[in-house]
Amino acid sequence: MPDSFQKLRLKRGEERRIRAGHLWVFSNEVDVKATPLTELAPGADTEVTDFKGNVLGYATVSPNSLICARLYSREARHLDEDFLALRLAKALALRERLFASASDQPFYRLVHAEGDMLPGLVVDRFGDHLTVQLTTLGMDMRTEALRAALHKIVQPRSILWDNTVSLRSLEGLALDRQEEGPCPDTLDVPENGCCFTVSMSEGQKTGWYYDQRPNRALMQRFARGKSVLDAFCYAGGFGVNAGRGGASSVVFADASKRALAMARHNLQLNAPDTACETLEGDAFETLKQLRDAGRRFDIVSIDPPAFIKRRKDHKEGLAAYRRLNLLAMSLVQEGGLFFTSSCSQLLQTEELRSCTSHAASRLGLHPRLLYTGFQGQDHPVHCAMPETAYLKCLVCTCEKF
Ligand code: SAH
Repeated sequence: MPDSFQKLRLKRGEERRIRAGHLWVFSNEVDVKATPLTELAPGADTEVTDFKGNVLGYATVSPNSLICARLYSREARHLDEDFLALRLAKALALRERLFASASDQPFYRLVHAEGDMLPGLVVDRFGDHLTVQLTTLGMDMRTEALRAALHKIVQPRSILWDNTVSLRSLEGLALDRQEEGPCPDTLDVPENGCCFTVSMSEGQKTGWYYDQRPNRALMQRFARGKSVLDAFCYAGGFGVNAGRGGASSVVFADASKRALAMARHNLQLNAPDTACETLEGDAFETLKQLRDAGRRFDIVSIDPPAFIKRRKDHKEGLAAYRRLNLLAMSLVQEGGLFFTSSCSQLLQTEELRSCTSHAASRLGLHPRLLYTGFQGQDHPVHCAMPETAYLKCLVCTCEKF
């Protein structure tokens, strides 16, 4: 069996990160004299060795990508239907443990790529319906095996193959979207005792952002009797949790009209007594207008899209986070709470903290950090791969002393 693998050999010294548990090989780490990338079959199963020929693991290759190989196993296994089924069963068993006593079952991220030792695969589960994103050539080529494995392990009624993520272009893959089975237009997603109606056909990401679930639960806890601003609200995640927790009013802000319609509907569904206002437009502008109009809120939450997507965007992105955090914190009522999130993997938690302290010092406030949250546990972080940890959510009090 091992003989049927093509080989990829690393240069001397380049095996260290992989020995420490990381799963990626970068193209400049390959000994291209011994194993020219141009001669490797794209997507095929590959044995990765160090410069002496010691086996490091088994990977699929994308010879034209910067990340030219991603390990899926340390053992000599092919990435076929049986192997995928095994990994999916493990991913499922973890979620069943995590959500054993929760009413949010079975609504969760079922597969978090490398966090579940399945590079290139993201699966979100909405009861009997799945949304799948394939981001590597290796995984894309195994669509049929994956489909069979998903039916074996999860038996979904429908699968939305949402291959519209821009990451695919780095692997030379086309963007497309296919529905298999009766994919519902809208779905009801339970979360923290709330119910969210989300549009699958017109939604964002995979339809719902499961990653903020634990952080939104905290919003619910703090919201009784409070006025809340939920900026970058999408379908109302933070604001609806606030409503459910007894908020007196929620203002939703987003650039998307559809998102705001969903947010309004979801607040009405879960907290009909909470006053609701929606503000459409660029959040930077919206927040400025609120500030200039003298509006203040007991709780402000910001949850923007990633401002730092590539390393070279770091400086500009950090500056945008700083501006946004300053604007948003200026809307917090004295003694109120500030929820600030970032889903940029390349922004460190410490840097987000520095955005809040910078804003507070400009506003003459003393911020105290009450909570540092991350992506929910159904998005497990591979401890050797910082790339799998991306979301942070800080909650601070903003007071004058
Ligand atoms: N807080 C949400 C998720 C936010 S996703 C939740 O808990 O589910 C980011 C949102 O920001 C999207 O809804 C997107 O429409 C919105 N958005 C992106 N750029 C924006 C901008 N410049 N101004 C306002 N909203 C923006």
